[in-house]
Amino acid sequence: MSEPTGNASGTDRAREIETALTSVRERLSRACIEAGRSPTEVALLPVTKFFPASDVRILYRLGLRDFGESREQDATPKVADTTEDFLADPPRWHMIGHLQRNKAKSVAAWAHSIHSVDSARLVTALSKASTVALDEGVRESELDVLVQVSLDGDVHRGGVDRDELHELADAVSNAAGLRLAGLMAVPPLDADPDAAFADLESLHNRLLVDHPGALELSAGMTGDLEAAVRHGSTCVRVGTAILGARPIASQ
Ligand SMILES: *Cc1c(COP(=O)(O)O)cnc(C)c1O
Repeated sequence: MSEPTGNASGTDRAREIETALTSVRERLSRACIEAGRSPTEVALLPVTKFFPASDVRILYRLGLRDFGESREQDATPKVADTTEDFLADPPRWHMIGHLQRNKAKSVAAWAHSIHSVDSARLVTALSKASTVALDEGVRESELDVLVQVSLDGDVHRGGVDRDELHELADAVSNAAGLRLAGLMAVPPLDADPDAAFADLESLHNRLLVDHPGALELSAGMTGDLEAAVRHGSTCVRVGTAILGARPIASQ
């Protein structure tokens, strides 16, 4: 995508994003209240993938300090591009998309958390990368890891099979440089979101028995955040409703 050039287009874009953000926040509060939960229990994670650094700057000026990205090759330059502007109060970047092991080192240099960890081999690579980054002072705290679980067992779409979830969670919690923060899932295509998130919530409750610190449940996007909030989500990852439709090629 190209960056807005003139001042006028930049201002229009800022207004557009501010309006969309306000309505998403209202939608999320309403969802929380209808679910009998406090709006402070559910974080809004704006997903900036495929949108330019200028949009991240707009969100930052609107007070947001967490951003979600899904592709390393898109995210790394964007993080680098904004680092200097955000030095006084650095945001937290969250990797939410599938991650290849050979990108672990790059991501460990800038990510606060990774929501999409679904294999033991990726855990090993991230543990090593985070440990080195900590030793070298590139990062100051352990990397937060959410294990992504596949709700329908179609692991080609990302996520570990539920039968291997506990083993993988144990591996994360035993790995140096990593902290097991919680669980994440994307509902299967054509699934009823309420049924999918109810299933996810019960997997999360079981995980909490062994790992009481794994409190985060990353669930819900533009199309299904209300259902996710009804079933214990602590973080909704919202792109389209805040920034608009992504270019088709990006989906
Ligand atoms: C892109 C993406 C989102 C945001 O989706 P929207 O429908 O645009 O809100 C959330 N989670 C993941 C893993 C994504 O890749």
